[in-house]
Amino acid sequence: MAKSTKSKGRRSAAQPTPNFHGHDILSVDQFNRESLDYIFEVAHEMRVLVERFGSADLLQGKILANLFYEPSTRTSSSFMAAMLRLGGQVIPINNVQYSSVSKGESLPDTIRTLESYSDVIVIRHPEVGSATTAAYYAEKPVINAGDGVGEHPTQALLDMFTIVEELGGVDGLKIAMVGDLKYGRTVHSLTKLLLDYKVEFTFVSPENLRMPNEILDAVKRRDHTYVETEAIQDVIANADVLYVTRVQKERFTDLAEYDRVKDFYVVDEELMQQAKEEMIIMHPLPRVGEISYAIDDDPRAAYFRQMRNGMYIRMALLAAVLGKA
Ligand code: ASP
Repeated sequence: MAKSTKSKGRRSAAQPTPNFHGHDILSVDQFNRESLDYIFEVAHEMRVLVERFGSADLLQGKILANLFYEPSTRTSSSFMAAMLRLGGQVIPINNVQYSSVSKGESLPDTIRTLESYSDVIVIRHPEVGSATTAAYYAEKPVINAGDGVGEHPTQALLDMFTIVEELGGVDGLKIAMVGDLKYGRTVHSLTKLLLDYKVEFTFVSPENLRMPNEILDAVKRRDHTYVETEAIQDVIANADVLYVTRVQKERFTDLAEYDRVKDFYVVDEELMQQAKEEMIIMHPLPRVGEISYAIDDDPRAAYFRQMRNGMYIRMALLAAVLGKA
């Protein structure tokens, strides 16, 4: 698939530069078309920078505290890589069981501690609203790297950046989200972020994993229509973007219920024969069976490129909140 460096969605020279300096990044609600264009423009520049030079010294002397209370591979390591590639340093806290959290330290005290050593804090935490709590106590910028089933704003930004980089823009696209739409925070954030654009939504899930009403209401309020279905076969032929998600085992209280739905969808070669030539398959990863390894070499499989885009978006965000974008 041709990778467009597109002009669609680019800001005009006359537009003022959105100012993120010193701001927290807690929710996709903070972004509009203009600020997204700006972040995507900076992320694109970061991509060019990494491809040409590998790294730069833009954030030299700055320190990121990377605080993860929940498992992570991509989000955690791409934030670290982003900071390191921009010349900054990282305090990584991935095993909170070995920190004072295991001694019963409260989130506000942990945040107060880390901000006294760092310039920006990234936090992933199992409770909805935890990043907002952290931001309340911190003077330094806080970036939400996933708060339970709530939001994952930096993932939504990298998802939309991937759509723009791969397909040249967002308006007019048919976007199908598939899988665990109830507990998957990435689809919640991405749907909200897309509301400013003219897209057609299809939500494909088993009955018990439907998109929450709160998100569906937001879609309706913004005069978008959507279709809900269980049948991926009815959707595949028209989709421009097939955004597949993992069933979020860790959010189930009843594991028998998880077992019933965990293999509901498998995107494989047979299904992909019905898809358009010019479309992309996305996945926030990790996958646990919902996308067959056999389609990894299909040019429409964008999930590894999407994953790499996470580093460029996080480079852009770190530079922006530290006043260096
Ligand atoms: N990595 C993504 C997240 O943290 C998706 C997932 O875990 O399924 O939400």
